[in-house]
Amino acid sequence: MFSTLLRPKMKQHAAGFRFDVLVIGGGVTGAGIALDAVTRGMSVLLVEMQDFAEGTSSRSTKLIHGGLRYLKQMELKIVAETGRERKIVYENAPHVTEPERMLLPFYKGGTFGPLMTSAGLTVYDLLAGVEKDERRTMLSPEETLELEPLLKQDGLLGGGNYVEYRTDDARLTLETLKKAAEKGAVCLNYCKAERFVHEGGKIAGAVIRDGLDGTVFRADAEHIVNAAGPWVDEVRKMDGKGNNKHLKLSKGAHIVIDKSRFPLRQAIYFDGPDGRMLFAIPRGRKAYVGTTDTFYEGNPADVKASEEDIRYLLEAADWIFPGTRLQRGDVESAWAGVRPLIHQEGKDPSEISRKDEIWESDSGLLTIAGGKLTGYRKMAEHVVDRIADRSSGEKWGPCVTKHLPLSGGDFASPVDLPNFIEGKTNEAELYGLSREEGREIAAFYGTNADAVFKFAHAAGAGDGLSAADRGRILYSVHQEMAAVPADFLVRRSGWLFFDVEKARAVGPQAAAYMKRLLGPSAERRGGKEELRRLLGETAGRER
Ligand SMILES: Cc1cc2nc3c(=O)[nH]c(=O)nc-3n(C[C@H](O)[C@H](O)[C@H](O)COP(=O)(O)OP(=O)(O)OC[C@H]3O[C@@H](n4cnc5c(N)ncnc54)[C@H](O)[C@@H]3O)c2cc1C
Repeated sequence: MFSTLLRPKMKQHAAGFRFDVLVIGGGVTGAGIALDAVTRGMSVLLVEMQDFAEGTSSRSTKLIHGGLRYLKQMELKIVAETGRERKIVYENAPHVTEPERMLLPFYKGGTFGPLMTSAGLTVYDLLAGVEKDERRTMLSPEETLELEPLLKQDGLLGGGNYVEYRTDDARLTLETLKKAAEKGAVCLNYCKAERFVHEGGKIAGAVIRDGLDGTVFRADAEHIVNAAGPWVDEVRKMDGKGNNKHLKLSKGAHIVIDKSRFPLRQAIYFDGPDGRMLFAIPRGRKAYVGTTDTFYEGNPADVKASEEDIRYLLEAADWIFPGTRLQRGDVESAWAGVRPLIHQEGKDPSEISRKDEIWESDSGLLTIAGGKLTGYRKMAEHVVDRIADRSSGEKWGPCVTKHLPLSGGDFASPVDLPNFIEGKTNEAELYGLSREEGREIAAFYGTNADAVFKFAHAAGAGDGLSAADRGRILYSVHQEMAAVPADFLVRRSGWLFFDVEKARAVGPQAAAYMKRLLGPSAERRGGKEELRRLLGETAGRER
């Protein structure tokens, strides 16, 4: 059950049942916990106050990476664990995660020299258990420039070349939730846990408000998990008790530039002019650069890339790719998010550990704090182990998510993906779609492509939208819980960040079509004004 049209039924179920686990937060952490718990046999309700992944989990650098920077900070356990998790995430969802060779150039006077890079990457390969054909190679300056001619030549001593994985964070979250829902979890977006219900000093449930229609219901559960990312302290306040730890939020921004202005061939991990490490990553017809890392005190729901963030990123890009002469006008879109870091006294944002911790309050509220997208599955396993440990008498199964394909990821092996896409490209014409549309849909939705094809075929073209676009929208409403146009344009399709021309061209028609499908509730954040705001916001322009 993961259709916006079934929300009333889902809420009815949520209100009349005592769940084993209530998860608060529908980012990647909450999604992972819901999937882990439901596949061990627990009944699960997940509530998300915005759209799924609308918090940090659609605003990251979109890398599943072992975190070379943690090696620099000697956080060997994080490097080892996240390094190993990369391959698992890839194998379970190859349609949303793909290997990406990363180039680490080194310069005279830079953070890493040839020896440090070589030794660091070797340790990285060993800790992360990297397979032979993916291990690091060291490159001469000429070889480095051959891979990426845009790089600054002055002082270049060479480069290290190693494998990371690129993902779509929002889609990874959604595919995890879709699998959890397929296994029986009830997952509701736009539903906020407003306060907790305690019985005999123990946490027993939460009062939930549906932000789309204003209805309120009470949800009861044996175990409650706070996976609210940057909001975990706020949720802990509702429990009335805390510990001496709290979060420190750090903002990170990215900018997106068309490849006609920034023809980046190769993903680069580089030292910025101030010594901070940044990424430049090609993605389809665009490339993006990020990230900043500055303490953030505002509301996490309002975080935006500021003009200062954009200037900083343009300066860094200009420094490492001097011939490009990128200007403010080249920035097509931008996004920012906040890292939910665990506070460490006296440390700069970049120095604070990205490790995760589980806190348990006297009332029994479990809070998962910190962490990374990359480690979400392992974090979930630790949380659900904790729940299983305290459920005396009950027999829950073991964690099975290591070998559990996410929704759309039903491939015997990731190497089957290209053949699958080829097959679907050939089939597309049977559904009245072009080969190119078929290819894009198959690559994007993986083994769920047939469902999108069928929606497209049934809907046909109309309302200023192609059959393929109508198919995507229908699929997002009926099988991905898209409730308002931004859900589709930002987190289901990714157009607003990576195909802003398309978002501009079909945004209003998509909004009108969703309104027709869903009625007045889709008008919330769906009007022309809202689209204009989103498009303006995405270009990083503050109004
Ligand atoms: C700029 C940046 C770059 C990053 N890059 C990477 C990267 O490349 N690779 C990587 O591995 N990690 C990266 N990270 C870290 C990663 O994005 C986060 O660790 C991860 O997304 C956090 O997920 P989460 O589910 O814990 O939090 P969130 O995604 O924020 O989810 C928490 C959710 O809880 C909801 N919520 C809050 N309060 C309530 C309530 N009362 N009721 C219901 N719902 C509620 C919120 O709306 C939110 O959606 C990056 C982070 C940032 C900011």
